[in-house]
Parts: sequence; structure tokens; C-alpha cells
Amino acid sequence: MKTANPRRQAIQTVQARQPARTTVDYVQRPVSEVFGSNVFNRSVMRTLLPKSAYRALIRCLDHGERLDPSLADTVANAMKDWAISRGATHFTHWFQPMTGLTAEKHDSFLAPSGDEEWILEFSGKNLIQGEPDASSFPSGGIRSTFEARGYTGWDPTSPAFLMESTNGKTLCIPTVFCAYSGHALDKKTPLLRSLDAINKQSVRLLRLLDNKDVQRVTCTVGPEQEYFLIDEAFYYLRPDLINAGRALFGARPPKGQEMEDHYWGSMKERVLAFMMDAECELYKLGVPVKTRHNEVAPAQFEVAPVFETSNVATDHNMLLMEVFRRTAQKHGLRCLFHEKPFTGINGSGKHNNWSLSDDKGNNLLEPGHTPHENEQFLVILTAVIRAINLNGALLRASIAFAGNDHRLGANEAPPAIMSIYLGEKLTEVVDGLIKGKVESGSKPGQLIEIGVSMLPELPRDTSDRNRTSPFAFTGNKFEFRAVGASQSIAFPNTVLNTIVAESLDYVATQIEKELKGGKKLNQAVQAVVKQTLTENQRVVFNGDNYSEDWHREAERRGLPNLHNTIEALPVLVEPGSRKLFAQYGVLNEEELVSRYNVMLESYCKTVNIEVQLTITLARTLILPAAIEYQTRLAAAIAAVRAALRDQADVATQEKMLGDVCEKISKLKFAIDQLDLLNKEADHGDGDPFAHAKFYQQKMIPAMNALRAVADDLEVIIDDELWPLPKFREMLYIY
Ligand code: ADP
Ligand code: MG
Repeated sequence: MKTANPRRQAIQTVQARQPARTTVDYVQRPVSEVFGSNVFNRSVMRTLLPKSAYRALIRCLDHGERLDPSLADTVANAMKDWAISRGATHFTHWFQPMTGLTAEKHDSFLAPSGDEEWILEFSGKNLIQGEPDASSFPSGGIRSTFEARGYTGWDPTSPAFLMESTNGKTLCIPTVFCAYSGHALDKKTPLLRSLDAINKQSVRLLRLLDNKDVQRVTCTVGPEQEYFLIDEAFYYLRPDLINAGRALFGARPPKGQEMEDHYWGSMKERVLAFMMDAECELYKLGVPVKTRHNEVAPAQFEVAPVFETSNVATDHNMLLMEVFRRTAQKHGLRCLFHEKPFTGINGSGKHNNWSLSDDKGNNLLEPGHTPHENEQFLVILTAVIRAINLNGALLRASIAFAGNDHRLGANEAPPAIMSIYLGEKLTEVVDGLIKGKVESGSKPGQLIEIGVSMLPELPRDTSDRNRTSPFAFTGNKFEFRAVGASQSIAFPNTVLNTIVAESLDYVATQIEKELKGGKKLNQAVQAVVKQTLTENQRVVFNGDNYSEDWHREAERRGLPNLHNTIEALPVLVEPGSRKLFAQYGVLNEEELVSRYNVMLESYCKTVNIEVQLTITLARTLILPAAIEYQTRLAAAIAAVRAALRDQADVATQEKMLGDVCEKISKLKFAIDQLDLLNKEADHGDGDPFAHAKFYQQKMIPAMNALRAVADDLEVIIDDELWPLPKFREMLYIY
């Protein structure tokens, strides 16, 4: 007796689904009222805190002043009352260890008062510092040499919030996570330090440029997030999606993305219901999600927020992923953030829009409307160009991990060569500065005198944009497009901020030298800009980054092309990198090496999980299905022979059977090969890099070879027998 195919049952489950509702009715409660309602933000603090405490806190937030510990009790008390009045029972320090995820351990506010009474308690100490038993978080070796315990420390620059779940609310307090030695064990501490570095160097440079108003400079970030949605019924039948986040098997679907009919297409009711629900939860958390649309691949979507300061944007992106995952389940869907869940169609990335902003809210990458604004813009632009040219490899390394290796350079994401797109107009300006005069465009023959003459209007037209560049200037910000969809944006931004800080430092120092040499300010700036652009212009490329020509051209220009994680990661620990991160106080040597170690380990573990899954699924699901089909074919041949005797013509069936037999032995061979390598990999010689290289050079090809045979079988075996939901089902039925 044949049992019904689980895929068919899954399809029936999908058919019966109803869109789920949001928790808020916007007629009863307008969005403006919902937005931020679960956030302990400034307006809440203003009403709940004594004036002096509020002012001190704001000074701490806006000017980076240290918070007096005596204030902590006052703030904690207000926070507790606010949280409890909204139904919270627990609090947690919310932090971002080097797993790349968020971590939380909840404690209730309940405390014994002594005489069999219970009170709700939350002290300044509870707010400021937590002592998680942190021994199971990755430390990359830091912990073995230092104090074993870590602590979490309140980061007042990212507001506390209430996380709602079905049966209650939890007060979440964004924190950093460090060892007692002071070593950062998380992703946020280095990010905050990099923001300090950029602040310091930017303000110094702006002062030199005679900008007297600016007190602080920070980075703004708006990460556009891509993701897939598939129905949970299919998901449960795909152990690879459950455990590895991506399909390790699956023939290309007959219909992929070639019709270009999904991008910005009309949204399905169920998907829109999910999006609106997730957005509603994010509004409550004060996450300013703004844009939603269908993406290029079937079942792929994008969400984009309004930009915020880098620190808050990082927390909000982590929250966004979390809320999306949860809400999807409520709707019988699964949200996949893997960089390449389905081979053969586009994968998902995160476009990290990045700029610098001063404390008056001015965007420093906005070319501006006065010669002075133009001057500032050009100097900062020059510094960014230099940063990417000199340290693009570091930026490349910051996005190096197993998932992203499937995507970079695959004609859907930029290649691994870090270059800058400036657009035609701005390139003309840059060329003009280098050559001393503008050669083409609107003002040929003219000299751009920095600080005196006006820049031509730069277009901010989307049609003009180059979508193939990893680092594109888009009118008033840079868009770093090579970040992976599942990745925390903390480390890429830490690296970006650090290399730009170094470059701002360099440019400021050069200008100082010229000034000392007796030049007037605009002459000094002109000379430094010219010189720096000349030395670094090779990194500018406006053409098609996907083309073969560019790869050759980039090689000729001497730009590094670090194809994969294994090639990219060692850059992190080169002497120059160690010096750079230490010099700007972002990561000391141990901290940097620990990150390298964690990234290497994580690479090995990721590939290892995929290998185990590949072997298991091939052995226990695919091989049995193939053998069942083989048996049926053999039985059919025997039956025809028995019925027709000499008249039987079973040549076709025999050929089919022969084909299946051959593919089965190929599959078995591929399984054995991978298994052999897998056993070898278990006995690594203790060198983590060699270990990772083995995974990349031996295991991945063996895994791909196995998959190729399995995918071949998928398209010849009786559909009834195939156990894994197919791409054509997962990507189209939801
Ligand atoms: P697209 O790139 O899809 O055309 P936009 O350019 O409007 O869309 O914006 C994309 C993202 O860039 C949004 O998340 C937006 O908030 C962000 N963004 C816009 N300006 C800045 C800025 N100055 N700094 C950082 N991010 C920004
Ligand atoms: Mg964009």
C-alpha cells in the first residue's frame, strides 16, 4: 500500500491557509500612535524622569558624556514603572555576541521584600550591568587567556523596548558584552568604538575646513533587507532548510525568474498580510520600516527602513529579522534570510546605505548648494575613495562567510572586487580635479576651484544607477551592496567606519601639512584632494561589474579579487590590519584575531552541517526513492515480459532502468566520496585555517558533485516518489 506523498499533503495544507490578522486596528489606533509605543524613547523619558535626570541623560546621548551612576537608579525606576504599567513581567539585557545573532536571558522583576511579601524591583545596577554566564558564547580564544566571565553593559544610545509575545511582555535593554579584561566579546562594542573614531576624525577635519558649528559626526545607515517566504508545510519537509537555511538539493524549476514577472509585482494577499503584521510589530518597536516590494526571484521580497544612526540601525535590523521570523510562523510561512536558499535563482543581500551626518542633521555626503558645502563634500568623498582603494580588501573580509560565498560574483550580487561607482557627472568632477580642468560635460576647460567655484548639479536619478557595483555613490550616500542577507550589519559597518576614519585622519594630516607650508586653505585642500584622488582613482569604476572585462581590468589595476571566504579572511589578521584597528581603538590585536578565529570556525561549522545533511538526506531520502523507482521499473519490465513473452518489446523501459541504475551507482559513489572526506575532515591537524581550506577545496566540490547527481535523479524519478518539496512548488505555492 502506497502512502500519500507528503508533498501532496503539504499542498493541501497550503490551500487551506487563511491570512492572519494584525494585533492593531489602525482606525482605532492610528499608525502615528502605534509607532514607538513599546519604546522607552525620549518623549517617554521626558515625561517620566525628573528634569535634571532627563537633561543629564540627553547630554550623555548627544554629546557622548559619561552617565553619572547615581542617575542610573532614577532611570531604572522610571523604566521599570513604565514597563510594568504596560504589562511587562521580566527584563533582559539584550546583546549581540559573536554568533551574529541576538542573545537574551530573562529575569522577572519579582524580588522578596523580606517579610513574606514580594515586590517588583529593578535597580540602577540591574540596568547598568548584567553578569550572564557567558561561557558558551564564541570568544575566538579571548576567554582562554583572560578572565572567564563576561558582563553586559547598558548602551543608553539605543533605546530600551518592550518585546511582546503571546503571553506577556519583556523589557529589553540594549547592551554591549565584554570580558572583565575589557575585551569586546560582541559585535556592538567595536561598532560603537568605530563611531567614536569617525566622530573624532571628522570633527577634526571639519574644523580644519573652517566649519565651527559641528560638535559631533555620526554614521547613518539604512539597510535594505531581502528575504524569501515559503510555506511552512514545505519547510517541514525540507530538513536542509530547517538545519542549514538553504536547499542542499533541488533541480532548477522549469520557471525561474526569467519572465521578470515577480519584481515589483502585485503582492499576494497572504504575503501582504504577513508584511503588514510584521510591520505593525516593528512600528510598536519604533523600527521605521518604510518600503516593501516583491523582489526579482519568485517568493523573494524586500523591506527597507528609513535610515537611522548606525548603532540604532544595527539593533533595528536585528529586531527586524527577529520579528520577520516570528511573524512568518504566525502566518504559516517561513522567512529565509540565507544568502542563497535556492540555487539557480537570485539570492538575498542587504544593501547597506551609509553616510555621515553632523549633529545639526546635515548629510556630509550631500554635495550641497554652496562652494563651502561642496568643499566639505569633496574632501570627504576623497577620503572615502582612498579608504576603499587602500582597504577594500578589509571591507571584503567583513562580509566573508559561507553563505555569502554562494552569492558574490554570481551575476546577482557584485563581484568580490571592491570598487566604487561614482556616476558620470561626479567622475567628471573627480577627473577634473586630477587633471586641473574639466574636459567634458557642461563646463569644459574650466577649473574646479575647491571652496570657490560651484560643483555642477549631480543627478540623483535612479535610472542612472549602476546596480552591479559593490560600493555605489547614490547622490548623497554610498550603498555597500555586498553584505549578506542573514548577516549582522555591525561588523561591515565597523570596518567601513574604521577605514574611513583612517582616511579622514590622513587627509586632515595632509591638509595640516600644506597649511604649515604656507598655503591658503583652499589651495591646501585643492592640492591634497588632487594628490589623493590621483593616487587612489584606480578604485573608481562605472562600468558593468559583472563583466569578464572588468575582472581583467581590475587585475591590471592591481585591485584585489578575493573570491571566497578562505581568500578573504586572512586579510583581517595581516600586520597592517592589526595596526589599523588598534590605532583607532576599534579592536586590539587579540580582539581582532578572535574575530578572525570565530569567522573561520563558523565557516567550518556551516559547511560541516551542510555536509552531514547532504550525506544523510542522500542516503535516507533520495537513494531510497531512487531504488523504489528502480524496483518499479524492473517490476514493470518483468510484468510486460511475462504477459507478452516473445512479443515483448521492453527496450525503452530497459534503457530507463539502465539509466536509473547508473545514476544510483553514481549517487552512491558520490555519497561514499563525501563521507570519506568527511571522516578525513574530522581528523584535522589542528590548524584552523588549513581545516577551513580543506572544507572549501575538497568538501564543497564533493558536496556539489553529489547534489548534481541527486538533482538529475529528481527530474527522471516518478513525481509521486520524490520526498523533498520541489523548487517549482516551494517558490510558487504559498
Ligand atoms: P533605492 O536605493 O531603493 O532607490 P533609496 O535611495 O530611497 O532607495 O533608499 C534606500 C535606503 O537608503 C533607505 O533605507 C534609506 O533610508 C537609505 N538612506 C537614504 N539616505 C541615507 C543616508 N543619508 N544615510 C544612510 N542611509 C540612507
Ligand atoms: Mg538602494
